[in-house]
Amino acid sequence: MASLGNPKHTIEIIQKHQFAFQKKFGQNFLVDEHVLEKIIRAAGVTKEDFVLEVGPGIGTLTQYLAEAARQVVAVEIDAKLIPILEETLKDYENASVIHQDILKVDIRQLAQEQNGGRPIKVVANLPYYITTPIIMKLFEEDVPVENITVMIQKEVAERMQARPGSKEYGALSLAVQYYADTYLAANVPPNCFIPRPNVGSAVICLTRHESPAVEVEDERLMFSLIRASFNQRRKTLQNGLNNSPELSYSKEEIARGLEALGLSPTVRGEALSLQQFAQLSNALGRMG
Ligand code: SAM
Repeated sequence: MASLGNPKHTIEIIQKHQFAFQKKFGQNFLVDEHVLEKIIRAAGVTKEDFVLEVGPGIGTLTQYLAEAARQVVAVEIDAKLIPILEETLKDYENASVIHQDILKVDIRQLAQEQNGGRPIKVVANLPYYITTPIIMKLFEEDVPVENITVMIQKEVAERMQARPGSKEYGALSLAVQYYADTYLAANVPPNCFIPRPNVGSAVICLTRHESPAVEVEDERLMFSLIRASFNQRRKTLQNGLNNSPELSYSKEEIARGLEALGLSPTVRGEALSLQQFAQLSNALGRMG
């Protein structure tokens, strides 16, 4: 039985190994059995599944995953945690640990070798500093992934789910919604972790669309437009795109592109939906 969801056991392990938390690795260990069970349920983990866990810490979530999944591979950056994981996971033959920075792992290859290229599930209590890079890596590198269920800062979860016109809406909302459906599985208060973080957290489940949510002829151009619009959020879209070093469209071309969508040149990027960014990108792309 998974034993580490209990705060007493976590403290015992930490003291026994004289483990010192490293802030730079975003180490806040989960100590709430209900939240752990909720994560497993939200990810829909079954005995058919291969699960990649990012940052197992002392192995708390890993134990729950190993009980529910066919196989779990956990990637941990902190060398000091490796001997602890050897101890806490010794009874779980279907769980293994790779000592590596997840951002340097070839996850496509891992999925190929360990799961015959079939879609994997990714589950993690993510360190804040890699939330966006790891999610974008999974989507952009075309890793076969069925869903990603992660504990992240509540405010970042809100940005991922935001819709046009809200103050949370931005490049992250559009990137995530282009690739996936989002579902907020739980809000999690700071007292569910050791040490307690300063902000609230949330568990979000991202289920990858079979094909992207909108039809776009040049993805790179669309994401350049999105970045340029939100880098200069307070400017009109026409000025924001015209000033961007990534793009080389004149104000007139941008106005024509917007007109083709029935939009005024004074519109701001935050008003455009994903569909409209795709259409604008297609219109500008055709101008060469
Ligand atoms: N899964 C554990 C839990 O829920 O209690 C620990 C979660 S803690 C928020 C984040 C974990 O990710 C830490 O163990 C940390 O050392 C690890 N980590 C941080 N950066 C990483 C990286 N680039 N690659 C792999 N693991 C990383």
